[in-house]
Amino acid sequence: MPELPEVEITARLLDSALRGARIESAVAPGINALKTFEPPLTALAGDEIAAVRRRGKHLVIETAGGLALLIHLMSAGRLQLYDKRAGPRDRTSRLLVRVTAQTPGEVPRELELRLREFGSKQAAWVKVLPADALEQDDAVATLGPEAWPDPPTLSDVLDAPRPLHAILRDQRVIAGIGRSWVDEILWEAQLSPYKRGADLQPPEAERLRAAIVETLGHAIAHYEDVIELPIPDKLPMPLRIHRHHGEPCPRCASTLEAVHFEDYVIAYCPACQTEGRVLKDRRLSRLLR
Ligand SMILES: [Zn+2]
Repeated sequence: MPELPEVEITARLLDSALRGARIESAVAPGINALKTFEPPLTALAGDEIAAVRRRGKHLVIETAGGLALLIHLMSAGRLQLYDKRAGPRDRTSRLLVRVTAQTPGEVPRELELRLREFGSKQAAWVKVLPADALEQDDAVATLGPEAWPDPPTLSDVLDAPRPLHAILRDQRVIAGIGRSWVDEILWEAQLSPYKRGADLQPPEAERLRAAIVETLGHAIAHYEDVIELPIPDKLPMPLRIHRHHGEPCPRCASTLEAVHFEDYVIAYCPACQTEGRVLKDRRLSRLLR
């Protein structure tokens, strides 16, 4: 679920809280989320956090000692900062980083950064890399250009015979958009989820680009207003279309429709996006759930 806006606000809040903080220890308890062995996680101890930033849907924690912690939250992860230490009964933590944050003139604060994951999938992962190897890591090297704040010219990057709903979520094509925000973006641009990227006319590609900038930018601005550390378990996503099928379209008041898949749902407005056509819905997968 965390996509570009959710990861961006996480990076911003953690960056302001942790820049300059000293790392005491880093451990990956329970089922190991750590995907690298060298350098070891213990190499972070004694180092200092230089910055926390976002790349696509990944978080990057850079240290003054030249290491980078690359984190992917996948569908159900959160990177949360607490002023208490996790007890032994906390089974949701995949990574625990204990730090001491010191603001000049104030008492040092002992904090704990936890990568927590909800649900049974346990797919979130962490890599410890030399900072200068980050861009060559598979997960980063394969990423397309960032969807926000300045996405590329879409008539170039989306020029493929694939539906917009799929191609916009392909991180190798454009980085940051997932199943939630793609519905909002396509609704904003008034484009069908099944329109092929290669069929986009130049004015449509322009409209889509503007919709990406507007939609993701609006979500980030919303989070700046409402989200605080430690980062809530459930993020208040300002969605208007995704998960709103059956409700009136905010633009034209037609009923929003949906196409159900085994593990996600496409929502759209037939009047605004598909010239009134209701797309074939694969209800069977929904009935089997
Ligand atoms: Zn509509």
